[in-house]
Order: sequence, then structure tokens, then C-alpha cells
Amino acid sequence: MADKIKISRTSEFEFGGPIGILLSVGAFLLLFVIPGTVFYLLLTCNTEEASVLRIPGPLPPLETLWDTTAVTVLLAWISFQAILYMLPMGKVVEGIPLRDKTRLKYKINAFHAMVVSFLLAGVAFVLKLPLSYVYDHFLQLAVGAGFLALALSIFLYFKALAAPDSALAPGGNSGNPIYDFFIGHELNPRIGSFDLKYFCELRPGLIGWCLINLCFLVKEVELRGSPSLSMILVCAFQALYVMDALWNEECILTTMDIVHDGFGFMLAFGDLCWVPFTYSLQAYFLVSHPQELGTFAALCIVLINTVGYIIFRGSNSQKNAFRRNPADPQVAGLKTIPTATGKRLLVSGWWGIVRHPNYLGDLIMALAWSLPCGLSHILPYFYVTYFTVLLIHREARDEHQCMKKYGLAWQEYCRRVPYRMFPYIY
Ligand code: NDP
Repeated sequence: MADKIKISRTSEFEFGGPIGILLSVGAFLLLFVIPGTVFYLLLTCNTEEASVLRIPGPLPPLETLWDTTAVTVLLAWISFQAILYMLPMGKVVEGIPLRDKTRLKYKINAFHAMVVSFLLAGVAFVLKLPLSYVYDHFLQLAVGAGFLALALSIFLYFKALAAPDSALAPGGNSGNPIYDFFIGHELNPRIGSFDLKYFCELRPGLIGWCLINLCFLVKEVELRGSPSLSMILVCAFQALYVMDALWNEECILTTMDIVHDGFGFMLAFGDLCWVPFTYSLQAYFLVSHPQELGTFAALCIVLINTVGYIIFRGSNSQKNAFRRNPADPQVAGLKTIPTATGKRLLVSGWWGIVRHPNYLGDLIMALAWSLPCGLSHILPYFYVTYFTVLLIHREARDEHQCMKKYGLAWQEYCRRVPYRMFPYIY
């Protein structure tokens, strides 16, 4: 059945405009700009001034950047996560229906994987294994992760060329090889029942991010005898965020990344290199640039993170409950708008305040993760700055998709809930 379903070529492009040559240039440049940004941030963080406005130099010799041990560590880590993913623990659920009306099955056990990974990290700490290796070779690990992501993307592209049309991503089937390579040609590439995109989205990078933070905390203890309050807050906030994502693993099955985006360089590099190596920038910064944080300031930051988390979790759970079962007593009393597709849109509760309350909560938390690094440097605020741009762009993509899906009903929703993310501002 799958082979009979033909899908049309991608007609709407991102990152470069409608003309073949331009979109290719946009995607082509991003292949260098994104890894270059990771490299620049880490090099800058290693300097005493950590100033984003100054080019960090001189560049380390190229031969010092490639480290076979670092690549082996990364491969061992990814393989370990792959084994945990395949173990018969957790449950199996179905994703949302695909174009051919079939549903893929997904293993829900990322939280288990995180618990096992944390326990092993604890054992490594007790056994005094050199966890600070991660700090000392962070640049080499990032370079290695970048190359692994590139190798995976090349594999994914060639694998997609052999896939049936129905398996291709609607947005990654332009026929332009550079664009499709970057955006992702195949929607849900699998080897047997092993879903490559789903695995990479939540496990090696996200769990790795938390463990990287813990390694930085250990390095801080080695250098100064005890962890700083700033480091404890950053590690705790980010661990809470990752644990929440893994605890609610099923929710990812309805996100744009799984439902709409193909698996190519953009997501592969994002999952394996960008997330673990730039999201941990605050903790990396704190090791070499210690900050004093008073109790009152710490309490205020905890409050900001809590408010962000309540908005983020409340809105995501509300939509998820509603999409799974509109008659669920938790959401049955909320006001809704009918759409021509049969689905309804929430217009009260969190989704009646702004059209993307989950993004608002996420951004408030992002700010709380940077504040423990003080106000003297811009660098630790990279995450919240980049994340604002990412979520504004993502929100525009989603609005566009929703307008196509729901037409007049979406216009009515926009009229009743006029602000996108920030009440009375945007
Ligand atoms: P959402 O979870 O916001 O999903 C958007 C979809 O929700 C729409 O396409 C629509 O799909 C549905 N929807 C929109 N409005 C309504 C409404 N009023 N009532 C009911 N359904 C509605 O998007 P994302 O996948 O982008 O984000 C999920 C979470 O992940 C967010 O909290 C985000 O902040 C976070 N995130 C974090 C990132 C990170 O790097 N830390 C990166 C990206 C996202 P439909 O109608 O088809 O159900």
C-alpha cells in the first residue's frame, strides 16, 4: 500500500527562498554556519574574557581537534543508549497515523535510560573515574560529535534515495540534493524497528547534555573543593527539563520534529552536537568563570524557573490531554472552536492566553538557566537569545501549517487569541 501513495514535490522552502539556487545556498551555508557557531562558542568560552564580540584566537592546531579517544567515547555512549533503547523495558505505543494510514510503533523507555545512565555516572563518581575528562576534552568531543552527525546525515540521505515516495518528508522532497540533505529527505528512517530520528531526538544528546553538566560540576569540585550555587542551579534546572521531556516521552510523537520534519543534517547535527555542546554552555562557562550568587538572587531565579516550568508543563499537558481524548475530565470544560478537519482548537485555558503558551514557559526557563551566570557576560545568554529566535521561527512555521490545516477556524482562533507568545507584546 505504502508504495502506491505518491507525494508531490516540496513546493514551499525554508532557509533561502523559492528559487532552486537560493534555497541551496541557504542550506549549503547553514551546513557550515551551524557547526561554526558551536566551535566559536566553545573557543570563546575557553578565553579569559569570554567575549562574544572578540574573535577568539589563535585557533588551536587542527591536529589537536581530532581525538580518536574522544570519538571512541562518543561511539560507546551512543551504542550504550542504543542498547538501552532496544531493551525490553517500558511500553510500546503507536504514533499518529501516517499518510498511508498506518501507524508506527515506538518504544517508551527514555526515562528508564536516563535513570540507568545517572546510576552509572554515580558509580563512576564513587569509583573516582576521571569524569573531568569531558571538560578537558570538550572541544575534541564536540568536533567528534559533529563528524558523527555528518556521517549519519550522509547515510540518511542515501538511505532515503531508496525509500518509497510515501516515506519521504513532505518538506524535504524538493529534488535539490543539498536542500533535501539539510532538511531531511525521509520522514521516519528506520533500520528494522529501530527508529533513528526518534532515538536521536531524546536519548544520546539530551541525556548526554545532563551528564556533561555533571562532569562540569565534578571538574568544579576538583578545582575549587565544592560545587558553586550557580552550578548547582544550572545542573538542577536543566536536569529537571530533560527528566520532564523523557518522563513525557509520548508527547514527542505529536511534535513537528516527528510528524513533519524529515531526518537530515538539521536534526542529526542538532540532536547529536548542537544540543549537548551548546545547551551545556552555562555550566562550561561556570567552570572557568566562577560567579558569586547570593541566597536572595538564587531564590528569585528558582521562582522564575518554577513559573516557566508551570506554564510550560501545564500548557503542553493540557494540549496533549485534549488531543488524546477531548472528553478527558481535565479538559472537557474548556472552550473550543470546531474545524473542518473534525479536530477542535482550544480557546480557553493556557491556549486562550497566547497561541503558544508552551513556548513562553520554555523561554522563561531559558532565562532562569542563564541568570546564575551573572550579568557580566553575554555568552551564557546565548541559549536564551538563540532559543527566542528559534521559537519565533518555529512558531511562524507552525502558524503557517495550522493555517493550511484549519483555514477559517485558525483565523477565528487568531482573532480570539491575538497574541502569539507574549501577552500584549507579541
Ligand atoms: P507544539 O507542541 O506547540 O505543537 C503545535 C501544534 O499544536 C499545532 O501544529 C497544532 O497541531 C496544535 N495546536 C496549536 N494550537 C492549538 C490549540 N489552540 N488547540 C489545540 N491544538 C493546538 O509545538 P512544538 O512541537 O514546536 O513544541 C513542543 C514543545 O517542545 C514546546 O514546549 C517547545 O517549547 C518545546 N521545544 C523545545 C526545544 C528545545 O530545543 N528545547 C525545541 C523545540 C521545541 P494539531 O492541531 O495538528 O494537533
